[in-house]
Amino acid sequence: MDNNRKTLLIDLDGVLNIYEENFQKNYIPKLKSGAYQFLEYLAQEYNIKIFTTRNKILTVKWLIENHIDCFICDVTNIKDLAYLYIDDRCICFNGNYKDTINNIKNFKPHWDL
Ligand SMILES: [Mg+2]
Repeated sequence: MDNNRKTLLIDLDGVLNIYEENFQKNYIPKLKSGAYQFLEYLAQEYNIKIFTTRNKILTVKWLIENHIDCFICDVTNIKDLAYLYIDDRCICFNGNYKDTINNIKNFKPHWDL
């Protein structure tokens, strides 16, 4: 972890893997195509933490098996201080509550468009 770098908190399921809403506690789906290059690119400039509710040991094992552990500083289930949060299930608050309600009501994850 480089304290001079900004930190990105990146969600696991649906962002780095091919998860599509069939959660299995003891199985993490396959790495998503392009995820390796995505992390490799970002790791040159940012500290990257994985933000997941999954078991930390299972997650670290998955990172190692997919050879992406070298890009990751930490795995956490806590919303640590970060420059940005990258998640497949979030709404970016634009300061307008009405817009946000509309975005909540109309939300669909990228894999359900
Ligand atoms: Mg997710």
